Amino acid sequence: MCAASVAIVGAGIAGLACAKELQTAGLSVQVFEKSRGLGGRSATRFAALSKFDHGAQFFTARSKNFLDWVDVGLQMGLIALWQPRLRYKREEPQWYVGVPGMASLARVFQLDELVQREALVLQIERIETPGQMPWRLTYEKNQQLQVATFDFVILAIPGPQAAQLLQKSIANQPTLDGEFTALLQKLSCKTMLPCWAIWFETNRDLLGDTKYDVWQIPEDLENNQIRWIAKNNSKPFREDKSSVDSWVVQASSEWSLEHLAEDPLVIKRELLSVFAKVTGLEIDLLRLERESFIQRWRYARVVPQDSIAEVSFYLEHIGLGICGDYFSASRIENAYLSGIDVTKQLLRNA
Ligand SMILES: Cc1cc2nc3c(=O)[nH]c(=O)nc-3n(C[C@H](O)[C@H](O)[C@H](O)COP(=O)(O)OP(=O)(O)OC[C@H]3O[C@@H](n4cnc5c(N)ncnc54)[C@H](O)[C@@H]3O)c2cc1C
Repeated sequence: MCAASVAIVGAGIAGLACAKELQTAGLSVQVFEKSRGLGGRSATRFAALSKFDHGAQFFTARSKNFLDWVDVGLQMGLIALWQPRLRYKREEPQWYVGVPGMASLARVFQLDELVQREALVLQIERIETPGQMPWRLTYEKNQQLQVATFDFVILAIPGPQAAQLLQKSIANQPTLDGEFTALLQKLSCKTMLPCWAIWFETNRDLLGDTKYDVWQIPEDLENNQIRWIAKNNSKPFREDKSSVDSWVVQASSEWSLEHLAEDPLVIKRELLSVFAKVTGLEIDLLRLERESFIQRWRYARVVPQDSIAEVSFYLEHIGLGICGDYFSASRIENAYLSGIDVTKQLLRNA
C-alpha cells in the first residue's frame, strides 16, 4: 500500500519540523517554499564582506523536545552558544545561534530533497471525487503553473497569509463546514506586526570598538524607534575580518507599523542616526545610507495578546493542518513546537 501523502506549505522552522516528523513516521512528504532559501524568518544574507542575520537573532530553548533538537544541531556543528556583551541584561536561558548563520538552522532537519524551492502555492482545493486524493495544490514554479494532489495539507505560513490562502482557495466550497469557517475566523483575527531591519559594516580601525555587542532596548525607554542592535560578528563562527564590524539594527514593532509605507531611504536615515546615538560610534551617515541594506518584514511578530489557546489547528475530517509561531509567541521554539503538535494530530488520524 502507498504511504499517505502530505503537502506542507512553507519551509520555515514550523514546516520543516513537521516535515521531519512525518518523514520519520513513513509518510510521503513534499514541502513547497516560495523562496530560494529554507528557514523562513530564520534567515541570513551575504552582503559586502560579511554575513548578516537580518531576521531572527538568536533563540532560547526550554522544552525537552526542542532541547533534544538543539542537541542534534550542536552535534552537527550547525548550532552554537552565543554570549554577547549585553547593554541591557535580562534573566534568560542560554542564547543559541545557527552557525555560520541563522539560516543554518534549516540544515539541522536535513530535508533538502523534500523541498520544492521557489514554488509559490497559489491555491489549495478540496476535491471530493472517489478514488482520488482529496487535496489539489496549484503552485507557480519557473514561471509555470503546476498542479499536484495529496491526502493531507499543512499550512506552515504566517497566520494572515494562511487566512488569505484559505479564503481565496476554499472558503466557498460547500463541503467545508462550520468548523472550517470558525478556523478561518480565528486565523483572520490574528495580527502580525512588521519589522524594519537594516544591516551594514563599519570599520573598527577607524571608529574604535564598542563596549557592548548587543543592545536589547527595553520598551519603556524614551527612544522607541529601535528595539535591537547587534554586532553580528560577535556571534560564533562569523568571519573574522579583524577591522570590520557587521551590524544588524531592528526597529520596534510599533514604529515599524507607524512607518510601514515609508520610503526605505528615510527609514535608513532614521535608524542609522539612532544607532549612532545609542552606540556612540561616529559613523558616516551619508555613506552608510548608500551602503546599508534594508528589509521590511511584513509579518515579523505576533501581537502577544493575540495568541490562541491551541498550539496548532487540525481539522481531522478534511485532513487540513495549520501551524506556525503565531499560535503562541514569535520565537523559534514556538514555531518548532507548533510544527510537532500538528504532526501528532495528523498521525493520530492518518
Ligand atoms: C525581524 C525578526 C526578528 C526575530 N527575532 C527573533 C529572535 O531573536 N528569537 C526568536 O526565537 N525568534 C525571533 N523571530 C521570530 C522567528 O523568526 C519566528 O518565530 C520563526 O522563524 C517562525 O517560523 P515559522 O516556520 O512559523 O514561519 P516562517 O519562518 O515565516 O516560515 C514560513 C515560510 O513559508 C513561506 N511561504 C509563505 N507563503 C508561501 C506560499 N504561498 N507558498 C510557499 N511558501 C510560502 C515563507 O517564504 C517562509 O519561508 C524574529 C522574527 C523577525 C522577522
